Parts: sequence; structure tokens; C-alpha cells
Amino acid sequence: MLSRHADPIAAIATAPGRGAVGIVRVSSPQDLSPLILAVCGKPLRPREATYLPFRDAAGVAIDQGLALHFPAPHSYTGEHVLELQAHGGAVVMQLLLARVIEAGAGVRLAEPGEFTQRAFLNGKLDLAQAEAVADLIDASTEAAARSASRALGGALSHEVGALRDQLIQLRMLVEATLDFPEEEIDFLEKADAFGRLDRLTAQLQAVQARTRQGALLRDGLKVVLAGQPNVGKSSLLNALAGAELAIVTPIPGTTRDKVSQTIQIEGVPLHITDTAGLRDETADEVERIGVSRSWDAIADADVVLFLHDLGRVGQPDYEAEDERIRARLAGVDANRIVQVFNKTDLGAAPAGEIALSLKTGNGLEALRRRLLQTAGWQAVPEGLFIARERHVQALARTAEHLALARAIAEQRDAALDLLAEELRLAHDALGEITGAFSADELLGVIFSSFCIGK
Ligand code: GDP
Ligand code: ZN
Repeated sequence: MLSRHADPIAAIATAPGRGAVGIVRVSSPQDLSPLILAVCGKPLRPREATYLPFRDAAGVAIDQGLALHFPAPHSYTGEHVLELQAHGGAVVMQLLLARVIEAGAGVRLAEPGEFTQRAFLNGKLDLAQAEAVADLIDASTEAAARSASRALGGALSHEVGALRDQLIQLRMLVEATLDFPEEEIDFLEKADAFGRLDRLTAQLQAVQARTRQGALLRDGLKVVLAGQPNVGKSSLLNALAGAELAIVTPIPGTTRDKVSQTIQIEGVPLHITDTAGLRDETADEVERIGVSRSWDAIADADVVLFLHDLGRVGQPDYEAEDERIRARLAGVDANRIVQVFNKTDLGAAPAGEIALSLKTGNGLEALRRRLLQTAGWQAVPEGLFIARERHVQALARTAEHLALARAIAEQRDAALDLLAEELRLAHDALGEITGAFSADELLGVIFSSFCIGK
């Protein structure tokens, strides 16, 4: 794909279907004047909307609309960009797209994300910002959209940049010291290299926490409702979703398959799956398939709500079945399981446990809070930015290398070359977030700006 970077590309930039206005966008590393003359009939003043007819090859108007020309580099992609805003019907859009492909030399259809990819390649956006463009479009809650917009504005990149600047300073110190082995430790101590490393680590931890929240906001949380038939799983899904989504019925085993629904609590998307009853022994083939799928969903869940029916708690058959489910849940991380005692109108919940009545609604609010807490969600801090699992992973690797660097530094006769190497690896991991890699950056500053002195 990178090798095709030089082609002019075109696409319909607006959503498919009918709209009041539709936009065809062209981006090209070459001057677009010939294309503009052919389609618009006259040159366009840069960045000014001009109302005119768009012409086909015979000079006949396809539609009237606004034409906008953004000469390089002051455009979204950093290349020459032409935008034609016409009436948004599918036919007009297709005709206009076909026309720019025909009239522009070498213009081809853009691949998905290609405009944004060019913006990245031309330094208009860094990698984290380019990802935020997609996240903004896909955002499933308002909070996620706002945070994506903040990431697009460079919030994550800014935080990562601040970490990187400090890491570069530290690397300069350590690498410069490598050349003066007889004084190395002395020098590093004077320059407070290890204090710097500790402060950098603390700051990294704060960014990690915010990035984890951002990733949670983007990806949401997988919640599974587990428990015997008739304990109230479907009722709970309905209550959380605020709509009659699953079929609620008093006949045990009637929820035969997973039913999933995405809801939000405080802007965090929760993907909730109502599992079929988890009875192991059932004669019904359809139910058996449902049970097996339920266990798959549980293995994949961030949080499992294990429901119990207070109307039946204490009955031998019921307890035996709950025990069986409990035994099978033993493989799931205990921190991810929340015990929920439903139907408090029929019996009392054990002390300290989550008590719920879906009949009266009592306890639902407490359960919502518990859900977010189990997911690791803290109250939305100011300036939250959306992030991806990729960013969380890259920061975790950065932290690992910093921790190794610290461990090396603590040894007597610390091997400074190993320390330098860990810092370099931390720098690389950090650079993956914004797509800036360390080598060039570091070469530019190391030794040239740094003068070791007594
Ligand atoms: P599921 O099989 O686990 O999905 O259970 P359902 O949600 O279908 O509920 C089974 C039955 O229990 C339905 O008749 C519900 O109306 C009833 N139910 C659910 N929650 C409560 C509750 O808190 N109190 C009482 N008394 N009945 C409830
Ligand atoms: Zn159900």
C-alpha cells in the first residue's frame, strides 16, 4: 500500500445513501489544475467555495454544487485536495466520482482509510491521531465520541510526547556516560539520573491509568449474566437496557441462546450477554448448544454476574445446581465474578452480598456501580482521551523496560550498556504509539546538544 502512495485517489467522502449534500474528494501529490479545469470549467481560488456546474466530458452539467481546492500542503492529507459538494443522491455521487476518475490523470478509487493514511504519512497526524479519526466515526457513546475527538486533537500524543522528551534526556545522560567509564556512576548520580528514572516511571503510571480508561471507553466491557434458569437473567438484561429485549418467561430453560445488547453506564459501553441456563444435564439438544455457547461467552467475559434466586436459595436441588456452576466457574478469575442475589422480595440476601429485586428495582443502582468498579472504571477524569488496547500494551512494555533499567541501576557495578539498552527499548515501545521511532530522533540530539563536563 505504501508503494502506491503516489497515486491520485478519489472517493465519495459522505455516507452511502441519500443525503442533502454528498462530497467527492480527490487527493493527489500532483497539481490538480488540469482536473479542476476539466470538471469545473475554470481555475479555483485556494480554500474558497465556488458555486458552479460540474461538467461531464461533453461539457454538460452533471450537477451544480460547491467546489473547494486545497493546494498542498494545507489540506487534510497534506497533498493537493479537491472537494466537490453536490446533491447527495447515489446516482449523482457515482457520476461525479466516475467523472473525476476519468478526467484526472491516473486517479483511482481510494482504499478505506487511505486519505487518513496519507495524512499520517505526510505528518499531518500521528498514528494515535489517525486511529482517533476512526474511533470518532465508530464511537458508540457520547463520552467515547468526545474522548476520540480529544485524542484526535493530540491529547494522547501530547502525554506520550512529554514522556518521550524525558526519556530522551535520560538516554542522553546514560549514553554519554558510556564513553567515560571511569566516572560513570559518579556522573549519573550528580545528574540525578535515577531520580529522573523514578519520576518518569511515576508519570508513565499516570498515563497508563488514563490510557486504560480510554481503551475501556473505546472497546467497552464484556459482561455475562450467568446462573440457573429462572434466576432473573433476562429480567436483569431488560432492566439494564431499559427495554424488553430478551424474552422473560417463568418456564425454566426458556432462554435458549445468548442474547447480547450494548448499553452504557456513565458513557462506558457494556456489551451484555444473557446466557442460557447453565444446566449441564438436559435432554434438549437445542438447549445443550445454548449451554455450550454460554460457557464460551463466560470464558471471554470481563465481568461475570452470577445470579442467585432468593426464592429458591436453600432448596437442595437448587443448591446442588448452583454448586455445579460454581465449580465450573473456578477457572474464571475470581475478581471478575460478581455474586448477585436476586428476588429480595422473596428472601433475604446473605450479609455483604449484592441484593437485588428486579421486581421492585431495589439494588439496581448499586449493581451498576459495582459493574463499573469491577471493570476498573474510575469516575471520568477531566480531559479523558480515547485509546486502544495497542496503546495500553505499548505503555506496558515501556514500563517493563523502565523497571528492568531500574533493577540494573540498583546493582553494584551496574552494567551501563545494559541499562542504556533497556532505555532504548522503552523508547521504541513508546514510539510505537505515535508512530515516531526513536533512532533518528535520538541521533539528532545525542552528543550534539549534550556536552559532558566536569
Ligand atoms: P432467567 O431464566 O434467568 O432469564 O430468568 P427471567 O428473567 O426469565 O425471570 C424468571 C422469572 O422470575 C420471571 O417470571 C420474572 O418475572 C421473575 N423475576 C425476576 N426477578 C424477580 C424478582 O426480583 N422478584 C420476583 N418475585 N420475581 C422475579
Ligand atoms: Zn432468561
